[in-house]
Amino acid sequence: LHDALPICLCSISRKSERLNMLRATKIIATLGPASEKPEVLRDMIRAGVDVVRMNFSHGTVADHKARHDLVRSISAEVGKEVGIMADLQGPKIRVGKFADSKILLKEGEKFILDVACELGNQGRVGLDYKELPNDVKPGDRLLLNDGLVVLRVESVKGGEIFTLVEQGGPLSNNKGINRAGGGLTAPALTEKDIADLDAAIAMGVDFLAISFPKDGADMAYARKLADAASAKYGVGKVRTIAKVERAEAIETEALKSIIAESDGIMVARGDLAIEVGNPAVPALQKRMIKLALEADKFTITATQMMESMINAPVPTRAEVSDVANAVLDGTDAVMLSAESAAGMYPVQTIKAMAEICVEAEKSDRVQLDTDFLDQTFTRIDQTIALGALFTAHHLNANAIAALTDSGSTPIWMSRHNIHVPIFALTSKISTQRALSTYRNVTPIGLDYTKDRDTALQEVEACLKKLGAVKKGDTVVLTSGEPMGEPGGTNTLKIIHVK
Ligand code: PGA
Ligand code: MN
Repeated sequence: LHDALPICLCSISRKSERLNMLRATKIIATLGPASEKPEVLRDMIRAGVDVVRMNFSHGTVADHKARHDLVRSISAEVGKEVGIMADLQGPKIRVGKFADSKILLKEGEKFILDVACELGNQGRVGLDYKELPNDVKPGDRLLLNDGLVVLRVESVKGGEIFTLVEQGGPLSNNKGINRAGGGLTAPALTEKDIADLDAAIAMGVDFLAISFPKDGADMAYARKLADAASAKYGVGKVRTIAKVERAEAIETEALKSIIAESDGIMVARGDLAIEVGNPAVPALQKRMIKLALEADKFTITATQMMESMINAPVPTRAEVSDVANAVLDGTDAVMLSAESAAGMYPVQTIKAMAEICVEAEKSDRVQLDTDFLDQTFTRIDQTIALGALFTAHHLNANAIAALTDSGSTPIWMSRHNIHVPIFALTSKISTQRALSTYRNVTPIGLDYTKDRDTALQEVEACLKKLGAVKKGDTVVLTSGEPMGEPGGTNTLKIIHVK
């Protein structure tokens, strides 16, 4: 049994590791120069990272492959299966380069975006997306450099967009362009994205994040490409994540179809805020989380969560509140970008975030939302999952143990927050990794494909060893008969721990 247990779970000694046993919300950390050293990555995983994100907007495929392999080897060493996410750049529209790499625009000046311009200057700059002049009209507001610079379109002639600087600021090589209100037509997967998708799946990533999808069709297309690549390389199914960051994507129909066509969504507050305005984002975050939960999908809340910790060893009060409120909104995971990729305090940031999550979860309202009571289920496994949830809530159980092959049973159960921790015991490493994004689910590797009685004894011993349960506790357990078949969950058992 001891061999089958993740090492870190066998010897929970450090304070941060104890804390992480209690934490339901997952932490995602972007990798970058600040998190490249093996000893830093090791400390980050120990401090509580559940998923790492590789940002394909930066670096080469070879850089990502090296990071991927390092994460896998350190995960094995630490004894925690970390999920790996490849985040594709997507059709972010950008200005070209400047002769002096940077200019400063002043309010009231004229400025031209020109598809034919090679090297920019104070008066004009090139564009990587040559269709932009066809997508804009006089009166549009274009936001550059994360909204720091605002240009008002005055006229469009051929490949030139003539603008007036409405809000001045610095503009340097390859800064992004958004239109207030959205509506730019670039396709969701560029040629680079399609090549990166192939490379990421060949490496064996667990999650694929798609940037700027505008509707469910974009996600269905990504799914098709991902499945084809998985088949080509003989790897398991990769989970897709839609980054909701365009004005079009939050229209109710579009959002519902995006959620339906994805395994999870990211509240990508950076670009979203530029397109819809900062004040609209907090309410959108709540709405997205709610809709995703209702559709049995997971959510990641991202961008600037601990921004000041890029340069400081402690977060601001506002950042603490932001993380805590995302937890109270019901997010599955909170994400770090530059804080862990390029900041000075990657490990401290993760520790601080973990503490905030644990504390916020304590004040979360415990309530079994009974929306599933009126639903009719045709699937036996789903019915067992929700039956287990109902039982655990009413018996005030100490833990739920789901013996799972595909991971579906713990996913259904984790969509309803009853504060009973769910332990997903699986003999499949890909399922362990895939469950790394779901709130309240602790994935554990355990080979239970032996005879039933031995397997059940091992589950009990394993949960005791973890400190998850003790003598006299109640555990609600789901399993399949025969054991170890995908979609085969058909049994609900209540155990009093001996
Ligand atoms: P990005 O996505 O960091 O890749 O831009 C997240 C966001 O826009 O918030
Ligand atoms: Mn973005």
